[in-house]
Amino acid sequence: MMRLKGTKRLPPMTNAFFCDTDHYYCVRIAERTLRHAEHLCEEAGIKETGGIIIGHYEDEHSAFVNELSNPPSDSIRRKADFFRGAKNLRKLLEKAHRRGDYYIGEWHFHPNSSPCPSSADKKQMHAFARTTEIKCSEPILIIFGGNKNHWTIDVMVFTANHEYHLFCQSVRRSAPIRNGKAGTQPLTGTISPGS
Ligand SMILES: [Zn+2]
Repeated sequence: MMRLKGTKRLPPMTNAFFCDTDHYYCVRIAERTLRHAEHLCEEAGIKETGGIIIGHYEDEHSAFVNELSNPPSDSIRRKADFFRGAKNLRKLLEKAHRRGDYYIGEWHFHPNSSPCPSSADKKQMHAFARTTEIKCSEPILIIFGGNKNHWTIDVMVFTANHEYHLFCQSVRRSAPIRNGKAGTQPLTGTISPGS
């Protein structure tokens, strides 16, 4: 099993698994979810986009990301800013609750740029961790960077006073692989650190 520090570059169509150095927090992101986010980022072009993370905890500190929402229509999207709106999120979350999923964090896109969180991003996530209103004391932040030629991703968990960077442990490709054999193949060794 490999571990990479810093920004991760992911091949397209991957199911990715991230943990912090102590393996305390773990986040698994479904392949179709990554592809959907990549599609939204591609569509967003040079403007930021984002939404909420919907999923559930497989155990106390291991989350499964089932859905990265579209940007709510009242979001404000600029070249280097994203203010997530809230329109229709209640409806989306009610639907998620029925299948056992709920709000577990936020995601957004830094077009043609590093996925590292800005100080404003961090401040916002600590504030979310502190508020009892959203009932999520350890929200996850996923940031995509780059563009369709080179996606990068950063995954973090925030508490009221701390932040934990999660590192890519493994990626899997479930699409047919080049030699023609279909099926799930571990791709450890094919991720490379981003810029
Ligand atoms: Zn940001």
